[in-house]
Formats: sequence, structure tokens, C-alpha cells
Amino acid sequence: MAERRRFSGGRLVVATHNQGKLREFADLLAPVGVEAVSAGSLGLPEPEETGDSFAANAALKARAAALASNLPALADDSGLAVDALDGAPGIYSARWAGPGHDFAAAMALVLERLEGAPDRGAAFVAALCLAWPDGRAEAFEGRVRGRVAPAPRGGGGFGYDPLFIPEGEARTFGEMTPAEKRRHSHRARALAAMLAACFAPGGGAG
Ligand code: IMP
Repeated sequence: MAERRRFSGGRLVVATHNQGKLREFADLLAPVGVEAVSAGSLGLPEPEETGDSFAANAALKARAAALASNLPALADDSGLAVDALDGAPGIYSARWAGPGHDFAAAMALVLERLEGAPDRGAAFVAALCLAWPDGRAEAFEGRVRGRVAPAPRGGGGFGYDPLFIPEGEARTFGEMTPAEKRRHSHRARALAAMLAACFAPGGGAG
């Protein structure tokens, strides 16, 4: 495999307008001393997610933010993939909640489609892309297997968190503290792979 490009310090744009993801990224990047700025705070437009995979959507968001800001940019595309629904809602996870971001309705829809299905298996998947203004990009993926809860539980986290029980746990992500969720989370796993490959340990230049 070609050598990974390393992040050489300075500011990193986090190309998301989702406050839940932004909080998680800021927490995960703090230990390596990265100065994360959000795409929203720079007034960057949100590109349309026209890709047909998590990885393709992450790449188009990261590339657009890197070009518009002239800074390295990190984007993720993530979602809940339910086995018995052929991977749905998948890359359409946000869209299932509609323009009002109604995740109670999105979770109800998942439960309705799963009614009577014996297989409750599911995964949260996160694709990450770190892109530079010159067009270079590095891609990573993290996933966590688990199952769909009988009904949403817990008020923590965001999105589908109250509906997902990670493997080896009895509680949903919605019932966990942020630190407990990080121990399992798809986003934390993808980011750990990226940090190991592209960031110097302890922060700073690579
Ligand atoms: P996008 O990656 O911004 O296109 O949207 C991903 C969508 O997947 C989010 O809006 C959430 O609905 C869902 N999602 C992704 N990661 C998580 C998570 O960690 N917890 C709960 N829902 C998530």
C-alpha cells in the first residue's frame, strides 16, 4: 500500500454541520492537539451527498471542504445498516429522519420495517476521509456490530443511538455516557485508524 500522507499540524477543518458529530470529533482529536474548526464556523457550503457508499460521500465532503477552505479537511459519512433491511437505512440514515431531523420517526420506521423479522443484527458504519487542498486524500472505515433494540431507550447521544445495542452490551448507545459510547463506536474506531496512520503520537507535526 502507498505510504499514507501525514497531517503536518495546524488547523483541521471538520467538514460536518452535525453538532453531535462535531462534539465527538472534538473530543477524539483533543488528545493529539489538533486545532479543529468546523465547516459551519467557516461558512462553508454543505455539498450534496451524491455518492453511492459511505466512503464516496466522506470523500466528496472532505474534498469540497479542503478546496473551499485551503486547509486539510476531515469528513465522515456514517449510518446504521440493518441486516434484515439489506443495509438500510445505510447511506440514507440522515434522510430517513426527513428535513425536520425527526429521529424518533426514523427509529419508528426501522422498527416498523423490522416487525416480525427474527434477525435484529445491525452495524453502525463510519467512513472517514482526510483530504488536502492539493487533492490528496486518505480513507478509513470503522464499524461496530450489534442489534436493534425492541424499542428506543435512553436520551444520550444523537440520531439512532437509542435504538442500537453494541455487541457484548445490554444497553443502547443512548443509555451510555459519551466515554462509554466511544469505547465501542464506529467513529472512534475509524478515527483511531486515521490517527495511527496520519498523525504523530502526542500531537503536532508529522
Ligand atoms: P451523515 O453521515 O451526516 O450523512 O448522516 C449520518 C446519519 O447516520 C446521522 O444523521 C445519524 O442519523 C446516523 N448516525 C451516524 N452515526 C451515528 C451515531 O454514532 N449514533 C447515532 N446515529 C448515527
